[in-house]
Amino acid sequence: MGLLDGKVALISGGARGQGAAEANLFAREGAKVVFGDVLDDQGKQVEAEIHEVGGEALYIHLDVTREADWVSAVETAVSRYGKLDILVNNAGITIRKNVEDTTEEDWDRIISINLKGVWLGMKYQIIQMLEQGGGAIVNTASVAGLVAIRGTCAYVASKHAVAGLTKAAALEYAQSGIRVNAVCPGYIRTPLTQPLFDTMEGFEDQAVARHPLGRLGEPHEIAEAVAWLSSDAASFVTGHTMTVDGGYVAQ
Ligand code: NAD
Repeated sequence: MGLLDGKVALISGGARGQGAAEANLFAREGAKVVFGDVLDDQGKQVEAEIHEVGGEALYIHLDVTREADWVSAVETAVSRYGKLDILVNNAGITIRKNVEDTTEEDWDRIISINLKGVWLGMKYQIIQMLEQGGGAIVNTASVAGLVAIRGTCAYVASKHAVAGLTKAAALEYAQSGIRVNAVCPGYIRTPLTQPLFDTMEGFEDQAVARHPLGRLGEPHEIAEAVAWLSSDAASFVTGHTMTVDGGYVAQ
């Protein structure tokens, strides 16, 4: 028996990093997984890896900032698998700039992908979930959605907004059987963070030192929490911002 047997899930940003770990784990736990990204070659590779081990998955092109892409993603999932139980809003980007160096273009890009993309995804999934009578949504915030991190103000603002949006949606749809939660990872080693560790001297050591467990997290550790929040095992959990951060915000 898998944790997600019989469920149909849609995951954004699934071509690499945490999203790819989530697509893999969801399929192993028995879900039928539709996952999208803008990195189509990498996405198709992840799809092939899931098929190789007998999982059920479909990769689609999905730019989370485009309303038409979300409409089509939900339609594709429902037409292929008959329903849609779970949405994981994982796609996101970061940028290391303080307030004075952030350009209008930087700001709009971060807010568009990290925040508007989450709202748009929820909007079309919720329309479908209301028809079905329920579902579960997990948004990807960050420890930067709960406390500030220096030198990445637009990212911090976007992730605090995701935490707020998660709670607002949880209240709005609690009576409709739709649970809405967020996961708040600490520093996880992925293609998002590796270039920072490689190019900013001392950054990795500083990042490790901020985590009481004394190491960075791995993508599969986030996927485990997201799978649980998405599952019926978390049936009384909504409006929660769950840290998976090696103790980062406990200090
Ligand atoms: P990643 O860069 O490895 O993966 C993010 C994925 O999102 C990529 O595949 C990318 O192509 C995709 N993406 C970017 N723009 C997109 C768009 N417009 N439409 C669809 N997909 C798009 O990063 P990751 O570390 O796996 O991050 C996943 C999520 O976790 C992000 O929301 C990130 O902010 C959050 N997060 C990461 C960390 C960390 O330390 N890695 C910590 C806290 C939160």
